[in-house]
Amino acid sequence: MRCLASCFPVGRRGINVLDIRITAAKFDENAKLADADFALDPMYKPFDAPGLEIAEVKPGLWEVANAGQGNYRMQFIELADRLIAYGAPVSPTEMRAVIKKLREKVAAKPISHVVLSHIHNDHVGGVKAFAEAGATLVTAADAQDVVCKIAVVQARTVSVVDQPAPALKFALVNGTLELGDATRKVTVFDTRGNPHVERLLVLVDGGSRSVMAADAYSDTQPFNATFDWLAGHSRFKGPRGRPVTVLVVLVRSTRLDLSTVTSRHAASAGPSALIALAADHILRADPDSDGAALTRRAAPSRLRFGVAPPAPAAWRSAPARRGT
Ligand SMILES: [Zn+2]
Repeated sequence: MRCLASCFPVGRRGINVLDIRITAAKFDENAKLADADFALDPMYKPFDAPGLEIAEVKPGLWEVANAGQGNYRMQFIELADRLIAYGAPVSPTEMRAVIKKLREKVAAKPISHVVLSHIHNDHVGGVKAFAEAGATLVTAADAQDVVCKIAVVQARTVSVVDQPAPALKFALVNGTLELGDATRKVTVFDTRGNPHVERLLVLVDGGSRSVMAADAYSDTQPFNATFDWLAGHSRFKGPRGRPVTVLVVLVRSTRLDLSTVTSRHAASAGPSALIALAADHILRADPDSDGAALTRRAAPSRLRFGVAPPAPAAWRSAPARRGT
């Protein structure tokens, strides 16, 4: 069986102490779990999670922060008469709370689509809440079966009274998919081959000039392997048949100036910081690459002055975080 999100090398002090490979998983349809099965050890001090917060980080780009005990940010793009959501992390309960929080600021407009970035469980576990809200589920074709199963599964905890999922509506992405309206261009890109997950749906919002790429950037580990992929080489081929950066492809194909790159686990980063990061990675990897040349063209002034990456140098050596 192909290993999806199920390979977990665990390192300690540079030594691989575990190499966990899950090759199959099966639901026990008869399982009845009691709340006591999830009771915390009395010795464990629970994390005091921050409450949900909502902010309009750019005109028409809403972000609900602190979902999943402070680990997840949800983005919503506001169009003239509807909203588009990026990601459905954690669980239906968490996402119902996020949608409720969104409604404090944008009460009237329906959520027409939720773009599911990738099928790691922590990014798609809440999809049922969006199905309940009437949203079309946007995913890659080969992920549809998995998304269906996650969307219709019932809560296993006896005390939770769960509702059956409504009929699911899907929009499948193969290449690109336009979701915007006459006033705001919103494009889903089906990107391939990053080290975190084989297929990642990246959302580009022309209205706020933002790129949303789940797991690409993190407050705690900005220099992870997924960001390297986003900022560095990928399987995209440039005009001379050499690798080009995903970031630059997005900038070029949408004719945007990057002003915001948001991610599931991080605050939005500004343009100079991200372009500088991208340039730094690309130039270090291959100063003669198409990506380097195109990045220079995308942000010549910033590169000329050599904007320094904003994070402490020590973060550069942080290992890639997998499975998030
Ligand atoms: Zn992930």
